[in-house]
Amino acid sequence: MAFEGLADRLQQTIKKMTGKGKVNEQDVKEMSREVRLALLEADVNFKVVKDFVKKIRERAVGTEVMESLTPGQQVIKIVKEELTLLMGGEQSKIAVANRPPTVIMMVGLQGAGKTTTSGKLANLLRKKHNRKPLLVAADVYRPAAIDQLKTVGKQLNIPVFDKGTEANPVDIANEAIEYAKQEHLDYVIVDTAGRLHIDEQLMGELTQIKADLNPDEIFLVVDAMTGQDAVNVAESFDQQLNVTGVILTKLDGDTRGGAALSIRAVTDKPIKFAGMGEKLDELEAFHPERMASRILGMGDVLTLIEKAQENIDEKKAKELEEKMRSASFTFDDFLDQMEQVKSMGPLDELLGMIPGANKMKGLKNVQIDEKQIVHVEAIVKSMTRQERQDPGLMNAGRKRRIAKGSGRPVSEVNRLLKQFEEMKKMMKQMSGMQGGKKGKRKKG
Ligand code: GDP
Repeated sequence: MAFEGLADRLQQTIKKMTGKGKVNEQDVKEMSREVRLALLEADVNFKVVKDFVKKIRERAVGTEVMESLTPGQQVIKIVKEELTLLMGGEQSKIAVANRPPTVIMMVGLQGAGKTTTSGKLANLLRKKHNRKPLLVAADVYRPAAIDQLKTVGKQLNIPVFDKGTEANPVDIANEAIEYAKQEHLDYVIVDTAGRLHIDEQLMGELTQIKADLNPDEIFLVVDAMTGQDAVNVAESFDQQLNVTGVILTKLDGDTRGGAALSIRAVTDKPIKFAGMGEKLDELEAFHPERMASRILGMGDVLTLIEKAQENIDEKKAKELEEKMRSASFTFDDFLDQMEQVKSMGPLDELLGMIPGANKMKGLKNVQIDEKQIVHVEAIVKSMTRQERQDPGLMNAGRKRRIAKGSGRPVSEVNRLLKQFEEMKKMMKQMSGMQGGKKGKRKKG
């Protein structure tokens, strides 16, 4: 999970402060030291760490904490506010041109995730903002890159403009913009060439494209997992191109978080989006405050709700509720429900968005084994339609067949059947309780 190490350490440090009725300078000094170490260990730029700790310290020894009735809470508030500011404060929006199409130029080193992110961004603009994007293949040095973008476009059913490897990138982009106007497409996302390292020729070409297209946004795509290298790359690109925003990719695999916490302070450019996985819907708008909240173990309910709204079919959810009430919930419904929750993202990440989940005894350090879910699914899918609708049919022979079909032991099949029965019993009890209440209300 993103920021795992930092989150653990900061939360431990903060825990020591929460219960305190009084906070003295020594406490603040100690806390500052721990925060400093935690940030350095998370690979945050040392100068950024120095400034950050200085600010926290100044505020924590100031009157707002010392005179507060809950100084511990006050310190947490300060850390959260400063973390939010460090990552850019407000969420930064994407530009809209006065006259469409809005032109977005994507730049970055090879392997950072530029092509994938171009596709993800087009997908997000269409899905969340109701826009009609056009992807443009302007990396003329690598035929593979053009093919990759076309594949992405096909998967998403989003048009890709390309002219092979013979044309020049500026001409391609200009023609693409004309094409977008004709077709009434309102966002043009230009996937430019990347290299393994920054070189003059690349920068020269990108500068020329920029001068010619005058894009509304220049997004620099950097790989969060490369930590301070990502920050250095961002600095160089920004010096030459004056980018308008940064997209951090692979934040899902970045357990430290150094790039996310340093880039804004070093380049003064906002992080606009974060890549949270390889799939084409795994790009999130970057909300500094929500991120700070996740790092401090306070959860991120807003993102959780948004994910649920995007991925859970409301009609199905209502039907499911009805079935739960009437206790006519079957294994088919069970599968459905699992699919919907799974589509929201990896479970441990979802858990991280629930406030206080990390403090709950049963949930602390719980390793959610996604494999187990796959096993459960395999078992249910090995049942016949009839069995799924009416688990009462189950006998030893059927259980053996299901075990064989799913490649799981009979004991596991038994366990699932038992859990399912218990779940139904519980639903019955709950709906009974609700029915009772309703009845009473009617009488009264
Ligand atoms: P490009 O050379 O910059 O165009 O990079 P690609 O788009 O080809 O991406 C390089 C690799 O990074 C691919 O395997 C992508 O699937 C992977 N990738 C891109 N973004 C993310 C992300 O947010 N999370 C993860 N886990 N992988 C990503």
